[in-house]
Amino acid sequence: MSPLNETHDPALTSWLASANMPGTDFPIQNLPFAVFRRKGSSEAFRGGVAIGDQILDLAAVAKSGVLTGQAAAAAQVGAQDKLNALMALGINACSALRLALSRALREGSAEQAALQTCLVPQAEAEYDVPARIGDYTDFYTSVYHATNIGKQFRPDNPLLPNYKWVPIGYHGRASSIGVSGQQFRRPVGQTMPPGATEPSFGPCKRLDIELELGIFVGSGNALGEAVDMNEAEDHVFGICLLNDWSARDIQGWEYQPLGPFLAKNFASTISPWVVTLEALAPYRVAFTRAEGDPQPMAYLDSDANRSGGAFDIHLQVGLQTPQMRAAGQADASICRTSYRHAYWTVAQMLTHHTVNGCNLQPGDLLGSGTLSGPTLDQAGALIELTTGGKNPIALHNGEQRTWLEDGDSVVLRGWCEREGAARIGFGECVGTVLPARTIKG
Ligand code: MN
Repeated sequence: MSPLNETHDPALTSWLASANMPGTDFPIQNLPFAVFRRKGSSEAFRGGVAIGDQILDLAAVAKSGVLTGQAAAAAQVGAQDKLNALMALGINACSALRLALSRALREGSAEQAALQTCLVPQAEAEYDVPARIGDYTDFYTSVYHATNIGKQFRPDNPLLPNYKWVPIGYHGRASSIGVSGQQFRRPVGQTMPPGATEPSFGPCKRLDIELELGIFVGSGNALGEAVDMNEAEDHVFGICLLNDWSARDIQGWEYQPLGPFLAKNFASTISPWVVTLEALAPYRVAFTRAEGDPQPMAYLDSDANRSGGAFDIHLQVGLQTPQMRAAGQADASICRTSYRHAYWTVAQMLTHHTVNGCNLQPGDLLGSGTLSGPTLDQAGALIELTTGGKNPIALHNGEQRTWLEDGDSVVLRGWCEREGAARIGFGECVGTVLPARTIKG
């Protein structure tokens, strides 16, 4: 568990004015990581740290000689085109880098002149997926999402009996994970329309979003070894936003008996910025179980998890239709919720994943599952917001949506705020639906 330290002090300000603006996602207390380069250039991608409206270029920082010791070594590996090597160093090295950058970026720092030459404006940058993601696992940690979906398929028995005992997940596909700005074709596949006796083949008609968080694994564990709850968070690099696009009609026909497949693996979009658990420390909240629910089994339990294993991360989903874009209108908000409602914590997901000896590796990604909250307006997927496509949602410009249409863009946003701590944010995770490819014959 990351205790609060001098990097969290809400009174800290930076010599970079944009980092001190109220409402910025990237004050000096955040310092998330991404890989970037100047937009449209042939520069190598390299690691960077967000500060205000700028990116601190870790390759330039490493070259500048401003940092020393463990922090300098971390900046050096963070300068690579993917963050796997930095992730593999573990949380102590990342924490040393955070502390050194926090001090160097502070108002009055002697390093100001040297670091000013290491800044690239975010407006002039493009991003890549921050790690080589070897394996991607998607969990199912919202009991509200699991219940709402279960009701549509099994009205009498919405929540399966294993849900409150096992952090349910499935192995997903890493190759189609893209960074914010991703555009993807509407998937094509087999569906079984209601009332039909034979399946159809064609473009997906029930294209959906899933509002999730992505958890990047830091240092891994050896095959055959399990990670104890008390060490689980030492294996986490940080958290990003994740949209797990889903083809509900393809899913409905294919998911039994082995689970999600082509309904999920055509695209998943993540935010470029990964916020460390250390930055999120002021936003920890207690992990609790409702009266009457089973307590977690011993291997999924720890004092630290009970007292502060959950995180209060505010989440919002915006939908921008082509009509809004043409009219210069902002996206319409269709969901507001918080990660605090999740049934299983980050530490429980990681520990459960390794309990059988499965080895996690630096840069692996764990999805939280759709993070629906307790009420319908907190649902993180259209299949819930529209009750299985029965009740279209009204958008601010008078349009309606049941499922995503071609040209629609979806924007995920996340941030943390509370009295006595600096507000920090995740930036945005944007993806856009393109028309399906032409089907021959
Ligand atoms: Mn999912």
